[in-house]
Amino acid sequence: MEDNRNTPKKKRNRWNIVLAVAAVVLAIASIGLYIAPQMLFKVYDDEDEFRSHVDLRYRQMNVLPDARSRVVSTDYSDSAATAIRYDPLQDENMAVFRDQRIRDIQNSYKKRIAESEAAREKKHGEDMFYRPLQHVLLIDTAVYDSGTGALTLAIYTEEYREKDEAMEKVDSTIDTWLVAKDDLRALKTIQVMAPDYREKASVFTKEYLRTTVAEDKFNEGAAAYLDDDEGNYDKFVISESNVTFFFDQDTVLKKDQGVVAVSMLRSYMGPTVRSGIIERFIDPNKPMVALTYDDGPGGDAEKRIQRCLKKYNVVATFFYLGNRVKSDAETAKSCVAIGCEIGNHSWDHAELTSLSKEDIRKEINKTNKVITKVTGVRPTVFRPPYGSTSDKVRKQANMPEILWTVDTLDWKSRDAKKVFKKVKKTKKLDGKIILMHSLYDETAEATEKIVPWLLENGYQVVTVSELIKYKTGESPKAGETYE
Ligand code: ZN
Repeated sequence: MEDNRNTPKKKRNRWNIVLAVAAVVLAIASIGLYIAPQMLFKVYDDEDEFRSHVDLRYRQMNVLPDARSRVVSTDYSDSAATAIRYDPLQDENMAVFRDQRIRDIQNSYKKRIAESEAAREKKHGEDMFYRPLQHVLLIDTAVYDSGTGALTLAIYTEEYREKDEAMEKVDSTIDTWLVAKDDLRALKTIQVMAPDYREKASVFTKEYLRTTVAEDKFNEGAAAYLDDDEGNYDKFVISESNVTFFFDQDTVLKKDQGVVAVSMLRSYMGPTVRSGIIERFIDPNKPMVALTYDDGPGGDAEKRIQRCLKKYNVVATFFYLGNRVKSDAETAKSCVAIGCEIGNHSWDHAELTSLSKEDIRKEINKTNKVITKVTGVRPTVFRPPYGSTSDKVRKQANMPEILWTVDTLDWKSRDAKKVFKKVKKTKKLDGKIILMHSLYDETAEATEKIVPWLLENGYQVVTVSELIKYKTGESPKAGETYE
């Protein structure tokens, strides 16, 4: 059932061709003929010879699977030579994306070589036989279409440095990029693979390497890179037929074994490779927080909040006042467009406990009606103004009632730092509902601090309904209060 094409055992590189010509020149020079020292010992006579060595090496290179009709281009203009093997791509945007990554790699390589050669020259520049060493960077690239809406780009490099008139391999690297096929936006692994993909990949990879690679080629800490822990199996490409995982040099296997590639069939990975890209994924086992904003639609301040949420690909719940929705329809609509949840906060911020049954119903129903009409989406949850509620209110509202667990007092302080601090210093934030208001610029500013801070600290930022669903195991129910 396994696909064994991408064998990780790579023979020690024998791309060391001593130049007989250089040796002859040296012999002549040593019996008294004057020849400019920089003419001696050059590894390649000219670009043609460089090119033929490059072609030879590329033929042996098999880290990237499914090599197709690839093109090789070379640059032999200075002592930091480069070569690139690539597919001519139909997708022009993807070609631009790939070429930019290649340029970044080339530029940092050239800069690094220039610096190390400058240091050599400073030290040995006076020597009669000094000349810059020859360096070569070979780049191999491939783009894979998963057939499920995702593209993966892999860039593999091998770096060589002149040593004793031959080229010695000093480094090899692998990098992969995962993007959406339609607009090339960066995707997270979780959007294309289910969380248990690492378990499957780990079982296969361990067994495969155990049966194909000699024990003495493994690094001592190899297991740490092969377990299904987070952080492992993050470099991969997905084609229509295979998933290939890559391991950096000197991780699983010893450094001289280079980058390791292990391919497995898509059929082996089964549904752990998703059939399409999912836009948002909530991991029930990871902490989550619901940000809630009352009293909107909140015009410019809320739009700024929405921009921030969108930027970080997170969502929140906005509790709207019915009487504001028509005049700020644009904000309400964009709230839905970015995937946020809309809740009902009464028509005009009434103290509901002091109203008659009929008036409570009016406050709630009118608001649901206008929100549905303007946004196309019916509010799912309800929050009584001032948090003031009773059995009567709950019964008349007949919606899940949402209170809060963290009150930022943003309306009172109007100070982004204070609001942020309030969230930061809350203990055990997991499962908490945070109360803010979408009317204030300071609250928008606070949101711009809170959201990245939450994400950096491992929290998922979800809607109130999502929070309730994942924390209680059930969707929010009408007549129940959640806080
Ligand atoms: Zn309110």
